Amino acid sequence: MSDRIRILGVPVDMVNYSEALDRFKKFIEKDGVSLIVTPNSEIVVNAGKNPDLMNAIEQAEMVIPDGIGLVYASKILKHPLEERVTGIDFLGKSLEYLAKSGKTVFLFGSKPGIAEKAAAKMEEVYPGLKIVGTRNGYFKPEEEEDILAEINNADPDLLCVALGSPKQELFVLKYKDRLKAKAAIGVGGSLDVWSGDLKRAPEFYRKHGLEWLYRFIQEPSRYKRMAALPLFMLKVVFSDKSQTKG
Ligand code: UDP
Repeated sequence: MSDRIRILGVPVDMVNYSEALDRFKKFIEKDGVSLIVTPNSEIVVNAGKNPDLMNAIEQAEMVIPDGIGLVYASKILKHPLEERVTGIDFLGKSLEYLAKSGKTVFLFGSKPGIAEKAAAKMEEVYPGLKIVGTRNGYFKPEEEEDILAEINNADPDLLCVALGSPKQELFVLKYKDRLKAKAAIGVGGSLDVWSGDLKRAPEFYRKHGLEWLYRFIQEPSRYKRMAALPLFMLKVVFSDKSQTKG
């Protein structure tokens, strides 16, 4: 088991891509659903205000550091993370592994039509990948039982939940004991990117940790959410450093 640090009280596993993938492979082989969460700095700040989200992250089997802010924070806290493990890249590596090993995936979330488009693209990029079901992410509470039945009938190895945070984490936690998947991961807007509806930041932005800027240019209405990053860094600088380990 790899080390875990705490950033503003939120647990984060000190994993690089290959360690995260090794752990994922173990999840796929064992019984029960393992929850994988991919917090960025915005989610860490939100977890401080939302005990349900904090609890979901606390319960997760793996917490991946998705966000350049977390890498900077870990340095300030003197337990530097080796690298940023983005949810979308980790998802790609997981899908590649699942395709090779003949395992199955269910895509749940995003606007109608998106998961189907994402599925077609994933199957093209990873030949042999079996996507056994899709379901859009807009539903009433009374539809949840049907969604659960739909997922369980498909019996996937990996359930990708693209409802945004904290909805995706809370959905998995709520049904964890009844879900048939081996692993469930909250993938945020990743299906929109896979479907081609949302462009991913070009290499330049990614290499320099400027994905937030690219995203702002694409969706200026997100400006309020962008303010979370500087606020997060300030909070880390002034946080109690003795609570970092474990
Ligand atoms: N979404 C959904 N159901 C909802 C709210 C959001 O399926 O009730 C989807 C939305 O269509 C988008 C995804 O959740 O595909 C992630 O949204 P966002 O960009 O806010 O997530 P982030 O990547 O920032 O976590």
